[in-house]
Amino acid sequence: MFGHRVFADAVSTYEDARFVIFGVPFDATSSFRYGSREAPDAIRKASYNFETYNDFYGVDLTDVRIHDPGNLDVDFCSDDMLCMVHDAVAKILHDSKIPIVLGGEHTLTYGCARAFVEMFDDAGIIVLDAHLDLRDEYLGAKHSHACVSRNIIDDLTDRCVLIGVRSGSAEEYRYAKKKEILWHSSDEVHDNGIESVMEKAFDALSDCKKIYLSIDLDVIDPGYAPGVGNPEPFGLDPRDVRAVIRMAAPYTDGFDVSEINPGYDHGESAMLGARLVREFIAAKSASQIQ
Ligand code: MN
Ligand code: MN
Repeated sequence: MFGHRVFADAVSTYEDARFVIFGVPFDATSSFRYGSREAPDAIRKASYNFETYNDFYGVDLTDVRIHDPGNLDVDFCSDDMLCMVHDAVAKILHDSKIPIVLGGEHTLTYGCARAFVEMFDDAGIIVLDAHLDLRDEYLGAKHSHACVSRNIIDDLTDRCVLIGVRSGSAEEYRYAKKKEILWHSSDEVHDNGIESVMEKAFDALSDCKKIYLSIDLDVIDPGYAPGVGNPEPFGLDPRDVRAVIRMAAPYTDGFDVSEINPGYDHGESAMLGARLVREFIAAKSASQIQ
């Protein structure tokens, strides 16, 4: 038997699991660098670097029920991929479990978010990203990584906050202004602190009881995470992203990390991605809000 390598400590059955981690090896709309299809397995491999015990929360991940069924069998069609991701996330949510999705391109988040807002009337979405991702279409594709926040906000919900932004076209910034899209720049995080930015985000989402948290890893400074599809300088410190996870985890019932491109570094970015997933699981497990 040639079983796949599961995410570290993901040894539960689906039935028993509280968290279900699956991969989406999709990078067909990448504009600058292909390779994020390799990320789910690179993140799994990196996950074995870490201790099972999280001292901040006093949680041992060997005591948490986690299942990893492997990767979705996606090809090059965005629409097919989004259907598969939607159906997989919808089933996990329907079974009262928490989906954790390993990208692949950020494009996949639309499928996750659609399942999430269908499931929960009071859903809010937090996207960490260097880029606005507010293009109407990109290189002829409506479902491209460069359009994911636009598609979420136009089609699904305007209860969506973008954090860590430092890149977009003039048209995207105009669109954000016109539609009063809630976004916070990387400089604002640097100048005022992540706590202040998260306070504003929570205010904006105050009528949301359930949060979906999407992390495009390029939100982090390329000095820490060079292995991403579109590296953008002047980014967040990894501690800021960890702080977002810690603050949001009690309300968060869906999570993804995308855009890691393992061919462009020495494993640092996959290592960070794996560590952030483990932080989310520990934070959520320790939360009193279930
Ligand atoms: Mn993105
Ligand atoms: Mn990005």
